[in-house]
Parts: sequence; C-alpha cells; structure tokens
Amino acid sequence: MAERSLVLIKPDAVRRGLVGEIIGRLERKGLAVDAMRLRTMDRALADQHYAEHVERDFYPPLRDFMTSGNLVALVVSGDEAIAVIRTLIGSTDGRKAAPGSIRGDFSLSNRENLVHASDSVDSAKREIALWFPELAE
Ligand code: ADP
Ligand code: MG
Repeated sequence: MAERSLVLIKPDAVRRGLVGEIIGRLERKGLAVDAMRLRTMDRALADQHYAEHVERDFYPPLRDFMTSGNLVALVVSGDEAIAVIRTLIGSTDGRKAAPGSIRGDFSLSNRENLVHASDSVDSAKREIALWFPELAE
C-alpha cells in the first residue's frame, strides 16, 4: 500500500556531506521524494517532533544535537514506505546496525545516527503535519 514517511537527514549527515548518498539510496530503492526542505530545528520544534522522548535521559543531548545545524526534511513515498525506509536506515545504534544499512555503513554512534524516519502511519501523519503543514491530510 502506498505510504508517506517523514525523513530527516540529521545535522551530522549534512556536516559530513552524506546528503546525496542518503537521498540516492532512497531513490535507488524506488521511493519518491515528494517534498524537501533545508532548515534548522529550533528547541520548540524538537520538543514537538520528539514528544515521546522529552522525559528521557538521552533527550537533552539529543535536542542539542538536532538543533546544532542544518538538516534536510523530506516527505518520501512508495509501497510500504514506512517499513521499507526503517529497514534501509537500520537499527538506532550505528555500532550495531546491520552493514548495508545507512546507519550500519556510516554511523558509529547511538545519537549521531544520520537519519530519522517515521515509525508508523500515525507518526508519519503527525510528523508530516509538523514539518510540511501544507501537505497534511
Ligand atoms: P529511532 O530514530 O531509531 O526511531 P528512537 O525513536 O528510539 O530511535 O530515538 C530517537 C533518537 O534519539 C535516535 O535516533 C537517536 O538519535 C537518539 N537516541 C535514542 N536512544 C539513545 C540513547 N540511548 N543514547 C543516545 N541517543 C539516543
Ligand atoms: Mg523513533
């Protein structure tokens, strides 16, 4: 079933020049880029985007990291896009993520792991409304 996902190419990936590599992997898989925007996340947007994590110990350094520079926000679509993108990205900790995945190939960190992608249809709807209100359903 066709789905849309909200993808963030995080500030570490922008700093390391991996934007093209990451978008290329999504495109070569057959997914479509429906919208794309370079921007920085402010603290208020970080708190909304990561609402499920704001009380966690790892959240303050995560917020500092996510607000530390430009990121690229995208809406990416395709058949079962949400699960397909999560597989392409790999598990959260780059040290443990499978080789061949984006995090597995390029990240050695549990925090600076290059990419965010929505984890469910509901979170995709919520996150797309946050980042691309003009595309919200
Ligand atoms: P994912 O991005 O794989 O969906 P989570 O939603 O669990 O992972 O966490 C959101 C983000 O918070 C992660 O991508 C990572 O940047 C950071 N993070 C998660 N767990 C930790 C941790 N234990 N230590 C440091 N940062 C973490
Ligand atoms: Mg998550």
